[in-house]
Amino acid sequence: MSPVPSAPAELLPTGEVLLIVDDDTPTRLLLRGVLSRQGFVVIEASDGMEAVALFAQHHPALVLLDVMMPVLDGFATCVQMRALDQDAGTPLIMLTGANDLKAIDHAFSAGATDFITKPINWTLLTQRVRYALRSGQLGREVRRSHLRQLSACRIAKLAFWEWRLSDDSLHWSDDLHAVLGVASPAVGWLGELLALVHPDDRTRAQRLLTLTRQANTPLELELRVHTAGIERLVRLVGERGVQGADQAVVFGAVQDVTALRQTEALVDYLALHDDLTDLPNRRLFLRRSAEVLSTLDLDDDEVLLIIWLDIARFHRHNEALGEAGGDLLLTRLARRLRRLVVVQDALARVGGDEFALLIRAATLAAGLDRLESILVQLRRPFHLHLAADETILTFSVGVAVAPEHGTDPNQLLMLAQDAQRLARSQARAVLVATPLPPSQSRFTETLAVERALHTALERDEFFLVYQPQMELRTGTIVGAEALLRWQHPTLGMVSPVRFIPLLENLGLIATVGQWVLEEACRQAQRWESAGLNLRVGINLSPRQFLEPNLFATIQQVIAKTGVQPAHLELEITESLAMQDPTSAIALLGRLRAIGLKIAIDDFGIGHSSLEYLLRFPIDTIKIDRTFVTNITHAQADRVIVRAVTAIGQTMGLSVIAEGVETLRQCDFIEALGVHEIQGYLIGKPMAAAQLETLIAEFVRPGADLALSD
Ligand code: C2E
Ligand code: CA
Ligand code: CA
Repeated sequence: MSPVPSAPAELLPTGEVLLIVDDDTPTRLLLRGVLSRQGFVVIEASDGMEAVALFAQHHPALVLLDVMMPVLDGFATCVQMRALDQDAGTPLIMLTGANDLKAIDHAFSAGATDFITKPINWTLLTQRVRYALRSGQLGREVRRSHLRQLSACRIAKLAFWEWRLSDDSLHWSDDLHAVLGVASPAVGWLGELLALVHPDDRTRAQRLLTLTRQANTPLELELRVHTAGIERLVRLVGERGVQGADQAVVFGAVQDVTALRQTEALVDYLALHDDLTDLPNRRLFLRRSAEVLSTLDLDDDEVLLIIWLDIARFHRHNEALGEAGGDLLLTRLARRLRRLVVVQDALARVGGDEFALLIRAATLAAGLDRLESILVQLRRPFHLHLAADETILTFSVGVAVAPEHGTDPNQLLMLAQDAQRLARSQARAVLVATPLPPSQSRFTETLAVERALHTALERDEFFLVYQPQMELRTGTIVGAEALLRWQHPTLGMVSPVRFIPLLENLGLIATVGQWVLEEACRQAQRWESAGLNLRVGINLSPRQFLEPNLFATIQQVIAKTGVQPAHLELEITESLAMQDPTSAIALLGRLRAIGLKIAIDDFGIGHSSLEYLLRFPIDTIKIDRTFVTNITHAQADRVIVRAVTAIGQTMGLSVIAEGVETLRQCDFIEALGVHEIQGYLIGKPMAAAQLETLIAEFVRPGADLALSD
């Protein structure tokens, strides 16, 4: 559930009319909700015909247009609107499926200005809309200034001239001084005019003048002209005509276009740069990438890394620092990046909290080393004067490699973005787009760790700890999550966040996962025998969940250990269920049929959507720790937690909040209707024996406070 941003309306443009076209009512409602909160006036159409009519009637400042609609589809609608729009340049943004390249191409050829992929990223949406409005506005300004020039011409604000070819004499209208800064007698001859022209432009001017004289070619040139110490950019246009009996004459106009060209250059610049950080935008980045790609030395095995860099949970920083602080943080990050990247233009801001960069290197390994050294710098704290504390950013990074993954900059960038998303869902810092030979994918972790992992199981270095889960209604401990630990003789205690992705990469996750399963089941059975009614949560890694014989393995382990399946709860993450929903649903159904419970882990941070709750056969939602952390002061998080518990209630699911550390958080969580909590407040992950002691002596935290109240 990507949280809907709650930017303060007073910072934003108000009153602009936006037209939303989508046949899907919920999407329309959501779009309207988000955009009207930003101060826009939103009108809606549910089909293309209606949309075209509204467009003609209201002239909206921007249109958001769904691709798939009955009767008149988005592309056809777009074409009709463009025809109505003539040259007003209204931004038309199409809503396409993610990575639907065909639709994206089609959208542009139908006259769309931009596209946004579905499912809609709400944080980006308003940013894209505002950006498109700004570009549209600038485009209109240029066109308007051009019109002004034309009307100026009409009322003879331009200087006119006449060049008599017989004697090269020049004759000017009275306005010459206003245009050129000199009066007409000073440039009575062609030679005198050329003398004012910048030396670098002179040869070109002479050539074009000769062409006009000899070949009747219409004259059109722009020249830098120096008069009275000022350089102007002057545009000369002319056409050969015949006046009188035998006198060949070229008639023309001269115009000072200095300001116009400056505005255009500025518009060009703004259209290619991000206005917050002043970094190049996606378009310019793609252009530069294409340039660099064309100069890559393939004989020498040179590579180009196209990198997509995303700030982890940027919205948290935004909430903590306020919008202005968030902007400042992005500016500082951009500044740091600019210093670190050798060729400045190989760097871009491609989204709200997303950046792209290019690294050109002799080998992939060298490129990744360079990336790592950049990341090391980026992870250094930021000291913002607004905030008392330092801010430390973490990133997830996706890498595409040219020429290995192709040479189309746009495709490569999308590939890098996909890799970044995967990196995030697997809690990895850096991910190269496609599986590479193992020697190359070993990048952020040392060989030593990987080698040690191979023997960790046989050397008995793994063990499980259990973190208690308390039911809020009864104040008793009803479950425990099994968490894997690895104690290595020299590496020490290695975090599962670090080694589980490695186990996946090394193909060891199935074996270690099976060990975890057996160990946890054995423990659960022991607790059963001791008369404890305790549910044990077991984490399944994404790769493990995709193992074809997972179901059989689980059945065997249950049979072997004699545990009651009802005491087991498998924790899976949303991202993993996402990969192949149909077979995931089938597998979950089979697991539940034999009595196991299923929990969705880390709910709220992935690609989560309500759809999961509706479609997947599950028993429990585990709300991610990040939502709990800010629950006492971030209203957005409370809204989300409340929505999740409400859905849980209607669907008969139980809701566990993770990472509850304080009583205050616990109070909020309880008030929002959450059923169970897990976190340091109840207990850190601990050995099984310790957990037994805790249960025996357990008093609900804060119980004494309630009594003394
Ligand atoms: P997870 O499943 O979300 O587990 C919860 C993590 O949050 C645990 O970190 C736990 O120690 C930590 N935590 C619990 N309460 C609090 C709290 O109040 N405050 C804070 N700051 N943290 C709290 P841990 O044990 O380091 O595990 C990290 C991740 O590693 C787990 O996240 C899970 O995704 C993965 N993992 C751990 N054990 C296994 C396993 O046996 N198999 C698989 N596949 N993954 C595992
Ligand atoms: Ca878990
Ligand atoms: Ca979790």
